[in-house]
Amino acid sequence: MSKDESEQVDKNRRVVLAALAGGAMTGAAALTGQQARAASSETETTEQSASSSIDLSKNGMQLIITGSGSALPDPLRGGASCAVVVDGVVLQFDCGRRVLENLMLVGINPMKIDHLFFTHMHFDHIADYDYFMISNWIAGRQELVHVYGPKGTERMSEGALRQMHAMDYDFVHEILTYWPPHMKKRPTQEPPFKVKDVSPGVILETDSFKVSCLHTDHLPFPNMSSLGYRVDSDYGSVAISGDTAISEGMLKLAKGVDILVHECVKPDLGMTPGGGKFSSKDFHSDKLMKKRPQTGHTSPSQLGQLAADAGVKKLIAYHLAPYTSVPAAVEMSSLYLGPSPGPAIWAEFSAAMKKKYSGPVVLAEDRMIFDIKK
Ligand SMILES: [Zn+2]
Ligand SMILES: [Zn+2]
Repeated sequence: MSKDESEQVDKNRRVVLAALAGGAMTGAAALTGQQARAASSETETTEQSASSSIDLSKNGMQLIITGSGSALPDPLRGGASCAVVVDGVVLQFDCGRRVLENLMLVGINPMKIDHLFFTHMHFDHIADYDYFMISNWIAGRQELVHVYGPKGTERMSEGALRQMHAMDYDFVHEILTYWPPHMKKRPTQEPPFKVKDVSPGVILETDSFKVSCLHTDHLPFPNMSSLGYRVDSDYGSVAISGDTAISEGMLKLAKGVDILVHECVKPDLGMTPGGGKFSSKDFHSDKLMKKRPQTGHTSPSQLGQLAADAGVKKLIAYHLAPYTSVPAAVEMSSLYLGPSPGPAIWAEFSAAMKKKYSGPVVLAEDRMIFDIKK
């Protein structure tokens, strides 16, 4: 990158950070995709988003990145999550940091989420779930949200509502007793959520789409399962991973899809100045390495290989670490990431994927939108 380009990137970064910090951002238009790309240190993309907002009254199928980041806080990226919209029906996958706000910035009211799917119960994938539930309830949502996830989803939902938010649970019931009858649009008596632990297979099928899931390989404990998902419609198909090492489940789900959205949080060995500390064997105990040799995450070269093996038409890597975020975010993640490798890490990620996979590769950013067409 030339000096001029570097200066422009720095300038764009300052604009975006000022907007984020000062509340100057009034909508999606205030933070263009180009600025976001510059702010997140010129991540390399091969295709641009088709549009900057979603119209739920229109037919079609879209994918929205509602969070491109990883587990620890990153002001430039929300927690890994995405939404698929089919003919105006909103399917949300995971509910980490900033999902609600990112949906709003692309024009979707979070009260319009119809179905919510969890890949697993790690904190970065559920961080805004309790907030989503309480805020939808208190805002007067009437329609049920259908929630699906691996074993533990029902228990987690119950705990969030009745334990973590026990006071608000009682508070909403209390206000319902004194709101006058003419206030028709009021919270329902019970929070409008129908939650179900699901097993691998087809878990939802309508006239216009089908959602299936399979086990993936993230957690070493048998009682903590993780799932990947696939959405099929007449428009096309998307496969979505949560956190996982290379897995049979994702290979099957991704077979021939139009878009694969897959985590890519760990570097290949030797990619970072810390010697690839995050993915190196000595980072985990021998006992754990025997159980889980891949450390439960996927590196760029592994992901490129998976995309090639599955024959996907486009690859989107998300759950990206804050290598080039603000200094405090880099510092907070340093236990796992080591010292910041600088912006060159993203070119290394892309190159490693492209070495194995010849299709288009995108490093995800928040609020990217993709039209899905066969
Ligand atoms: Zn995660
Ligand atoms: Zn996880």
